Amino acid sequence: MNILVINAGSSSIKYQLMDLTDSRHYSVMASGLIEKIGEPMGRVNHQIFKGGEKQRFVEEIHLPSHREGMSRVVALLTDPQRGVIRDAAEIQGVGHRVLNCGEAYTDTVLVDAQVKKTIRDFFPLGPLHNPPNLMGIEVAEEFFAHSPQVAVFDTAFHQTMPPKAYLYAVPREWYTQYRLRRYGFHGTSHKYIARETANFLGKPLAETNIISIHLGNGCSMAAIRNGKCVDTTMGVTPLEGLVMGTRSGDIDPAALEYIMEQTGMDIHQMLNALNKQSGLKGLCGVNDMREVVERTAKGNEQAETALQIFCYRIQKYIGAYMAVVKNLDAIVFTAGIGENSWPVRERVCRDLEHLGLSLDLDKNSAPSREARAIEKEGAPIRILVVPTNEELQIALETKEIIERGTAPEQSA
Ligand code: AMP
Repeated sequence: MNILVINAGSSSIKYQLMDLTDSRHYSVMASGLIEKIGEPMGRVNHQIFKGGEKQRFVEEIHLPSHREGMSRVVALLTDPQRGVIRDAAEIQGVGHRVLNCGEAYTDTVLVDAQVKKTIRDFFPLGPLHNPPNLMGIEVAEEFFAHSPQVAVFDTAFHQTMPPKAYLYAVPREWYTQYRLRRYGFHGTSHKYIARETANFLGKPLAETNIISIHLGNGCSMAAIRNGKCVDTTMGVTPLEGLVMGTRSGDIDPAALEYIMEQTGMDIHQMLNALNKQSGLKGLCGVNDMREVVERTAKGNEQAETALQIFCYRIQKYIGAYMAVVKNLDAIVFTAGIGENSWPVRERVCRDLEHLGLSLDLDKNSAPSREARAIEKEGAPIRILVVPTNEELQIALETKEIIERGTAPEQSA
């Protein structure tokens, strides 16, 4: 079964075509990123994987809208030289990453008019992502009219949180009338990590207790008890929680008024600063963790402080989530920083021996792309590095929904 995974952004389309015919193995046939849609010159970066070889193709082309962008994706996938399928009918399902569906769905669903309405209803709570996500679905419906379209929500995995974890201590009507609550994001990644970790530990998912630590461009943690999410660090938007590349994470909301008064910024400029000019970038000028670590090695004090703040915030949430998960099996590092940056993992685990976290420094710094354990032999809590794969998770859920042929069900 060929599944196309689509992540449509405001000016981009990220795609991956996977062959999931064999239930135990999958292969990526093609992947790519179309950027700068709507700008004078768009950029296409297309890769195909044939016979164990990777071929790359880059072009610059004007793409006025997502429709032209998707048309280019279809043309590239079916191109006699650069393509991997003969025509679009060879795609049996399309899985879309969608940011926020609120409380409407607790799982992945087949797209129908009601699902599209729900995605639209949540435009105000996902203003940067939900509109292009819906556009991606509508354009894909035109180009892949014969294929089921499936929506995989970034918030769905977190819907098992209890009210004590998802409600803010604010006037109740803010929740009942305006739907203000913790939704949490990166759900597709945390769900994939929960399943992969259970497999790694040889335990049923329903008995697996972990803290999943996703450290990429965006960073979040999830407390997962018996395979289900019971708390997460991101909130009503992805701004809350951990320090990130350019996002502040947790901050006293009263600080906003004070700085707005001092600088004359309005609330939009303030939120832009908290989302795009803060985090590692705000603290030391660069948002890529590789560069931050390099600067610390050269004795740069700002980078050193930034790295300490980044790791300290993670340590605090590890402590908090140990209290809520109980009988913890493992803490699990994943995503760009979590999988690749051994200095970050070392600093996070440093001084947490009293909590049962005992890192083996050699295992931690040994390069590997595989899921692996990096704790000391016999330590009470496992410390794992598990590579995430959100595209595969979306493709697997899409395949499952299509095979089940389920109509979407709305929860309460
Ligand atoms: P992701 O969002 O999962 O693709 O993660 C992207 C981020 O991972 C980048 O912005 C880098 O900060 C970080 N990253 C990737 N590779 C490394 C590495 N080898 N060491 C440290 N950070 C890395």
